[in-house]
Amino acid sequence: MKTIIEPFKIKSVEPIYFTTFHQRKELLRAAHYNPFLLKAHDVIIDLLTDSGTSAMSSAQWAGIMLGDESYAGADSFFKFEAAVKKITGLPVVIPTHQGRAAEKILFTILGGAGKTVLSNTLFDTTRANVEFTGAEGLDLVCAAGKQPGLIADFKGNIDLIALDTHIQQLGADNIPAVVITITNNSGGGQPVSMENIRGARAICTKYQIPLIIDACRFAENCYFIKMREPGFKNHTVLEIAQQLFSHADMVTMSAKKDAFANIGGFLALQDEVLAQQFRNLLIVTEGFPTYGGLAGRDLEAIAQGLEEIVDEDYLKYRIRSIEYIGDKLSEQGIPLVLPTGGHAVYLDAASFLPHIPRHEYPGQALACALYLHGGIRGVEIGSVMFGKYGKDGGLISPPLELVRLAIPRRVYTQSHMDYVTEVITDVYHHRNTIRGMKITYEAPMLRHFTARFEMLG
Ligand SMILES: *Cc1c(COP(=O)(O)O)cnc(C)c1O
Repeated sequence: MKTIIEPFKIKSVEPIYFTTFHQRKELLRAAHYNPFLLKAHDVIIDLLTDSGTSAMSSAQWAGIMLGDESYAGADSFFKFEAAVKKITGLPVVIPTHQGRAAEKILFTILGGAGKTVLSNTLFDTTRANVEFTGAEGLDLVCAAGKQPGLIADFKGNIDLIALDTHIQQLGADNIPAVVITITNNSGGGQPVSMENIRGARAICTKYQIPLIIDACRFAENCYFIKMREPGFKNHTVLEIAQQLFSHADMVTMSAKKDAFANIGGFLALQDEVLAQQFRNLLIVTEGFPTYGGLAGRDLEAIAQGLEEIVDEDYLKYRIRSIEYIGDKLSEQGIPLVLPTGGHAVYLDAASFLPHIPRHEYPGQALACALYLHGGIRGVEIGSVMFGKYGKDGGLISPPLELVRLAIPRRVYTQSHMDYVTEVITDVYHHRNTIRGMKITYEAPMLRHFTARFEMLG
């Protein structure tokens, strides 16, 4: 088999600035050992996120010039609305400036104290928006999803039995929504099967609870369904997406992921009565319902991006390029979440650094080591991002302790990724010298963005 090549040529380039080990040592200290606090200029390969970091196509840039900036009823809105309807089949489309703005509106209306939102795994902003209303978020990922090294096709699935029992225990009236995140970002970018979505749909119908799909990476998820789930290999990714969304009452999406846009998001739904409540809030927080916090040019870029994302030559390259990194690391025996998911490689920091206990944040320590040794920026997805304090003040860690290396779409080449695997391999070879961390400052919510650390002696 021949190499699967990037299905694009490069028309415009950006420089990468190089730093030395000694410079990075100082830069990391000045950033309080939190890669979020580094300047992007000081990063060689930036794998902090795949969100808003995509390279737009020439057609998207052309769309930017076509943007209709009319306040109300702009042409660009109708193009955007048509693109979202084509994929989701949902009649109401509400633009927002990011995914979390859609979540904020949704849970302000649906959330509240005493309620619980059930999910395969809530992403951090989704959880924060649920909890901000006084409601609770509960993750019910399937058993396979909790075992980083276990090879299985759909490790992002929700545990349907646990879903049913939790609804019975908590009472359907206290569950305002079930959220299925595709792919499961915080659970390793692992896909959810169509069968699992159908199962969740049936349970939601039985208890009359709305099913919400967090669709940030729907195209990557649908490509996995095409490759792995019986009965889908002759369907197009677009057809699979349409079938998948036919099971949803509502969809939230960040266009910064699978729409190749640098900003944007939306909320799409069936229910016109609920939509009216959402729009009322939208006008206060985002803007008029035909622009929702976005410029007309952004709506154009998203509409075009949604066309491009379901291109199967792109998706084949995308999924293979992540797998390529995973293969190289696995050959070295480096512990990671397997199989690799859709948009990122997740190092298993707990196994990578078994000498560092969870309360000394092995994920944060590993993320810092990757920057120090190679100028690579990744993000901890573990006890810093999701840790909570128990009544006795002790840290309660989430099931997985990961470092996510998210791959921006269409941005880096194979040689960039070869460099990344070389750096990780080097770090792995002297992992015993890496020390734990201690938090010196933290915010009450989403602490990982701004927390400060010290390296333990
Ligand atoms: C990025 C993301 C969000 C939030 O979207 P923003 O555009 O960053 O606000 C929500 N859910 C998932 C799964 C995400 O990956």
